[in-house]
Amino acid sequence: MDAEVFVGRACELLAIPSTSERPADLRRALDYVLDFVGPGFTVERFESGGKPSALIYPGTERRDFHVILNAHLDVVPAPPDQFRPRRDGDRLFARGAQDMKVTGLLAAQVFRELAASLPYPVALQLVTDEEVGGRDGTRHQLDHGVRGRFVIVGETSGLHIVNESKGMLVVRLLATGRAAHAAYQWLGDNALVKLQRTVASLKNAYENKAPLTFSTDADYYVVGKTRGEVCLEFLKTWKDAGIPNADILRAMTINGYRVSETEKTRGPIKTGFFADMIAVPGNPLDDVDALKNVQFVMKDGQVFKKDGVMTPAAFFHGGPVNGWRIR
Ligand SMILES: [Zn+2]
Repeated sequence: MDAEVFVGRACELLAIPSTSERPADLRRALDYVLDFVGPGFTVERFESGGKPSALIYPGTERRDFHVILNAHLDVVPAPPDQFRPRRDGDRLFARGAQDMKVTGLLAAQVFRELAASLPYPVALQLVTDEEVGGRDGTRHQLDHGVRGRFVIVGETSGLHIVNESKGMLVVRLLATGRAAHAAYQWLGDNALVKLQRTVASLKNAYENKAPLTFSTDADYYVVGKTRGEVCLEFLKTWKDAGIPNADILRAMTINGYRVSETEKTRGPIKTGFFADMIAVPGNPLDDVDALKNVQFVMKDGQVFKKDGVMTPAAFFHGGPVNGWRIR
């Protein structure tokens, strides 16, 4: 498809204010992309909690999909002018231009061009509730038996391939109290006060000895910063939470190895372990921000940075990298 035509269609999709509280617009956005995909495919429609979604595939019945392209067509709320797409040079501005209606439309384009001719079963999964948790979209389809061996989510990732993301904790709190007359308050029992206490203790996972690992969702590209620098910005939240430096360092190293079950090959500097290490001039036990000044990097025994200078030229940029011997 001609790029101009594609951008024109993308602008039409972006103009639909498909936010979670507007079910009719969620449906419009979904129908728009289904119409874009065109005829010749099976379309299974789902709905849960007022959130429509669809699964599209060649043939007449669901198969053991080797690849599923997943996209969400909902966006977070924005002022009306953000739903009037604007082009400035080769850039396109609108709510959802990045996250992720345009990539959703692109997935639809790839699907309609290739799905019928690929030698293995593929599907396109379109959902409309990702920004509010995903339970009524992808999760709902999972609950209804939709499975894929490999799923590509076209989410914003600054062109990095991201294979994991930090988790989310959803906590439902219920407190009961007893109403009382204003003149006899001591006869009552204030549920709000109880809730405040619980929320405060939840916020302080550290004091509650919850196992902590350092992880970020820093899969985006910030102009002028390397990905490592972006990740280390998250140190601030750990410092704000009053977590001691030694425990932050444990969360970044041994706790992470335990969670990912790699503690038998990573951590100590000793024979048989991966020769991955960094060196900084200061002592992060005294000032954890010393980690922001990495002067030396060794990975798999090979030096990637020495005296503050990156050694292989290919890694000397802050943009997308392809990783080093990914395992
Ligand atoms: Zn998104």
